[in-house]
Amino acid sequence: MRTQRQIVDYSLQRRAVLRDVRNGRIGTLEVCDASPYLRNAATFHGEPTEERCPICRRENLTLVHYVYGDELKQSAGQARKLAELPDLAVTLREFQVFVVEVCRSCSWNHLIERFVLGRDGLVTDETLPTEVMVSSGGGGSRRNGPSQSGEVRR
Ligand SMILES: [Zn+2]
Repeated sequence: MRTQRQIVDYSLQRRAVLRDVRNGRIGTLEVCDASPYLRNAATFHGEPTEERCPICRRENLTLVHYVYGDELKQSAGQARKLAELPDLAVTLREFQVFVVEVCRSCSWNHLIERFVLGRDGLVTDETLPTEVMVSSGGGGSRRNGPSQSGEVRR
């Protein structure tokens, strides 16, 4: 998505947890503790993946996208379908997305990524074309200088 920014990746933490599970330092019950809400969210709003669950290997993981932000008002903290995010990203100025992977078979779950979406991320993209238009429009009377600067910008 175009406005995606401030991406935080949790794959190192995930790997550390999985290593501890394999070493027996953490019990599977401790990491396979997805709440009924999270499991429901995975069923109704989840994004299927091709990746097998690292714990039980019985089912593919499902990604759940949670959205947070003042502008979301009462829907803050809710799970959204991935397909709904681009619409939100052009409607709202800024909101956080937390991506959680869930196994619907054994209830393994882990935060894998978080990032910011929203119109505020488009500001730098939108100012550039405006500047180009202003400089070429103002160059109508004096052709040489401004038309060259217009080419440089492109
Ligand atoms: Zn599993």
